[in-house]
Amino acid sequence: MTHLVAVGGSDAGIAAALRARELDPSTDVTVVLADEFPNFSICGIPYWVSGDVATEASLAHRTRGDLEAAGMTVRSSTWASAVDVDRQLLSVTGPAGEEQIAYDELLIGTGAEPVRPAGIPFGKPGIHLLHSMTDAEQVVAALELLPAGSRVAVVGAGYIGLEMTEGLVARGFDTTLIQRGPEVLSTLDPGLGSLVTEEVRRHGATVLTGATVTGITPAGGGQWSVATTSTFGDAAGTFALVVVCVGVRPVTDLAVAAGAQLGQAGAIVVDEQMRTGVPHVWAAGDCVVTHHRLLGTTWLPLGTTAHKQGRVAGENMLGGSRTFAGSVGTQVVKVFDLVAARTGLRHHETAPLDVSPLTRVTVADDHKRYYPGAVPLTISVTGDHTSGRLLGAQIVGERTAEISKRIDTFATALHAGLSVDDVIDLDLSYTPPLGSPWDAVQVAAQGWERAAAAANPAGVSV
Ligand SMILES: Cc1cc2nc3c(=O)[nH]c(=O)nc-3n(C[C@H](O)[C@H](O)[C@H](O)COP(=O)(O)OP(=O)(O)OC[C@H]3O[C@@H](n4cnc5c(N)ncnc54)[C@H](O)[C@@H]3O)c2cc1C
Repeated sequence: MTHLVAVGGSDAGIAAALRARELDPSTDVTVVLADEFPNFSICGIPYWVSGDVATEASLAHRTRGDLEAAGMTVRSSTWASAVDVDRQLLSVTGPAGEEQIAYDELLIGTGAEPVRPAGIPFGKPGIHLLHSMTDAEQVVAALELLPAGSRVAVVGAGYIGLEMTEGLVARGFDTTLIQRGPEVLSTLDPGLGSLVTEEVRRHGATVLTGATVTGITPAGGGQWSVATTSTFGDAAGTFALVVVCVGVRPVTDLAVAAGAQLGQAGAIVVDEQMRTGVPHVWAAGDCVVTHHRLLGTTWLPLGTTAHKQGRVAGENMLGGSRTFAGSVGTQVVKVFDLVAARTGLRHHETAPLDVSPLTRVTVADDHKRYYPGAVPLTISVTGDHTSGRLLGAQIVGERTAEISKRIDTFATALHAGLSVDDVIDLDLSYTPPLGSPWDAVQVAAQGWERAAAAANPAGVSV
């Protein structure tokens, strides 16, 4: 019987464990995790903070009982500190003290941790990070002590900062979102990001763009003074609570101690079968580099990717030969009544490729205008002017407009290596309340083709 040990009880570790048990129910699977939250959906944290999800327990994809019923031994509050590669032993410290766990195959799924900028007194009451369930418990407990209307700040307007801003506004807090870039959601082109910035302001939050936090210091009475600098000069605001969401970095100490190599963004190098190169040691999820169908290798820490990589590893640890097919960087976020999504590459992100990028923005209705409720979608398409190959797409529009599924059409086309012209030929569904004979995705592809035919030599047609 194979003994498989997974370090990490989140998306990657659990996906690997489930896949191994599914393929061979006789596999002995142990999952070691540092916290008490096996298989929780940390993607759902903002919705527990907002109150949309009533209880913390609802965020569990599966309960501990479900996991044990699936045949796993779950060892929570257990920290893995070293790997003896020659003797195939994992050193852990848990409730019963220090011990070594023997493995036949070891998965490292240690994930990512939040970036902690200098000048911010993390660990002090009122200053919060938001990545783990423990972080979420601390934020929720702190918010419950604050009167409604208290001033709170979110530093960083990526998708997590935006989701948190929405949740804090929903709870009645006077919320300020502080963003270094010119618009929120810097993963989109500024023209589309500005639509999201406007949406956040429309719902009553203050948005400071082009503002960098230079320090957070006590202001007395449990308040914090947040100092920012921007092109408009230096400023400071006073807040009862500050949540810092400025990105993550891979957690790699255990893998490095085992002898694994690090690559892009300091993530663990793995091949497409999730091998680290260290005998019998595999890795998956936010801690590893991401194979990307357009870029080769990059680092894109996302739950969707972690699940797929973990599943691949779980299969291969039992002798399989499955390959992670590669990400195309598909992401989506709901921000109040808007949804913003992207897949593939933006114009400037194509620089490593041998292509002539051309980008065209088109506005198209989500369904026939004569049927009530039609809303415009802003769709940016980037393709290779020379070959016609689709390279990327971005969409912003109202939540009712099926944006995640429309970006998935582009994602599927990218995965298949289709041209922009191929997108126009796709047999997409149509009925007037939901679409048009030419879906908005195809209207945008046609817009791109017209721009390409106009042969703008700079390749920019916006
Ligand atoms: C608020 C929020 C919202 C998100 N929303 C989305 C979304 O909408 N869509 C999306 O695709 N992604 C989203 N993500 C990202 C997604 O949650 C992560 O990509 C995913 O959780 C990564 O899974 P993982 O298993 O690689 O690592 P993690 O979830 O980081 O888990 C790491 C695990 O390793 C354990 N661990 C680490 N070191 C050790 C050690 N030495 N010993 C023992 N255990 C250890 C931890 O306890 C944990 O169990 C979101 C993330 C956050 C924080």
